[in-house]
Amino acid sequence: MRRTKHIFVTGGVVSSLGKGLTSASIGLLLERRGLSVRMQKFDPYINVDPGTMSPYQHGEVYVLDDGSETDLDLGHYERFTNSPLTRDSNWTTGQIYQEVIRKERQGVFLGQTVQVIPHVTNEIKAAIAKLAGNDVDVVITEIGGTVGDIESQPFLEAIRQFALDVGKENCLYIHLTLVPYLRAADELKTKPTQHSVGQLRQIGIQPDILICRTEKPLGPEERAKIALFCNVPVEAVIEERDKEFSIYEVPLSLMERGLDELIVRRLGLRTPKPQMDDWIELLRIIRNPEHEVSIAVVGKYAEHRDAYKSIYEALDHGGIANRTQVQIQRIHTQLIEREGAERLLSGVDGILVPGGFGERGIQGKIQAIRFARERRIPFFGICLGMQCAVIEFARNVLGWREANSTEFDRETPYPVICLMDEQRNVTDKGGTMRLGAKPAVLVPGSRAAECYRTDVIWERHRHRYELNTQYLDALTASGLAVAATSPDRKLVEIVEIPSHPWFVGVQFHPEFKSKPTAPHPLFVGFVRAALARRQSVGKRGETEAASSVAHLAS
Ligand code: GLN
Repeated sequence: MRRTKHIFVTGGVVSSLGKGLTSASIGLLLERRGLSVRMQKFDPYINVDPGTMSPYQHGEVYVLDDGSETDLDLGHYERFTNSPLTRDSNWTTGQIYQEVIRKERQGVFLGQTVQVIPHVTNEIKAAIAKLAGNDVDVVITEIGGTVGDIESQPFLEAIRQFALDVGKENCLYIHLTLVPYLRAADELKTKPTQHSVGQLRQIGIQPDILICRTEKPLGPEERAKIALFCNVPVEAVIEERDKEFSIYEVPLSLMERGLDELIVRRLGLRTPKPQMDDWIELLRIIRNPEHEVSIAVVGKYAEHRDAYKSIYEALDHGGIANRTQVQIQRIHTQLIEREGAERLLSGVDGILVPGGFGERGIQGKIQAIRFARERRIPFFGICLGMQCAVIEFARNVLGWREANSTEFDRETPYPVICLMDEQRNVTDKGGTMRLGAKPAVLVPGSRAAECYRTDVIWERHRHRYELNTQYLDALTASGLAVAATSPDRKLVEIVEIPSHPWFVGVQFHPEFKSKPTAPHPLFVGFVRAALARRQSVGKRGETEAASSVAHLAS
């Protein structure tokens, strides 16, 4: 019988060190050694899931096939590994307590006083153990937050206990820390790492491996110092430097530093070296693109790096498939409202409007979509972006000036987007949308069908509103086409404008299913269309320049 090994990844000094990316990279390297890996993340905040949090607080909400709304680090896990992700892959303090309290109400604890140790820690350990099994070699568990946070304590205590339960030889603790560079002293500083490891050791966890995030190379002196003060061998002090081109460089650079070798040796796993040929090829393409396009992502959280994380990644994947570097212009909807689409979007080769909630920024999105439609610039609308495309079409092509979604105007005379039937009596906000993977049937000959090259697709959803099919005849008579519906034909899942070079709106979130090694077909198609536009505009520019030179010469 196989004994599942456990890797715990914690973080210290500061947040946003890239624990998710590092955990995903470790998962990838182990899978490429032929191991079967499962990934999970604990988030110490109290919310039951991030679904109710503002993108300003939390960045993107990443949706899984089973409809769970999870932390965006799970996006990294899916993009890097093949670990199946489910509801069991992301736990918050809120969920753990919900479980404990549910059991208490059912009388499961038989009159005991319910406490953090052992009841809460047992629940956390059960969540870890749930992922282990006969077919699993390694479970990687990332603990969100930073060592020293009050909320993290039960999780750290639980992973400490876990090694006692399953045997120390089956567990490995990896601590990610920051080694800052002080310009004034021209030195890398190891003290924060020493403090952070000190805190971990105080609660009984001696990290086995330290991964040091740094902007400058970590010299032998610094490594020796960290090793000595943190009580680890020098070989277990691994440098992780900021990457120049792409996050997809991280696994290879960790491999070069011997991380995966060290992990399998420490865990007593016998495996061949990782098979990374396709990944190396991927990086070669990223580093040496043949073309370039500029794509505007028009959203109300444009200033927030993580709010549309998976969309930015999926655009890069679409670029890789076309050997094209995608320059992403993050454009704030309010800026478009203030300065106009013409000024901000004239130079771009493609326009993408992502998902969202609430009325703020809608006008800007509609202006951007109108610009894309009228100027024949490739357009990709995702969820709210698709809904806004329908509103724009109704207003400016059909002339229904007051057309709207009932999300923004309940009294609109033309509710072209309306609440789904199943949503009418829903009052709770958390986990109540239409969520997760659903099938859709593609219309043969549509642009979408051309991209997917199949008839049935499964894509992930997260919405309450839908295209109001009462208006379908009017919309289609004027040139909007339906390219996919739910199998019962009740819900419209993709719309297109066939007379436009590439105008596609989808009610789902394709960005959640794109990987660098398997780019999503719609993102591939969108980037290809943007590239075609850039090349034809370039040619037109050249011909115009040539003819004006000829004109001057004559
Ligand atoms: N607010 C819209 C809805 O609920 C769109 C949601 C989204 O873009 N994810 O239907």
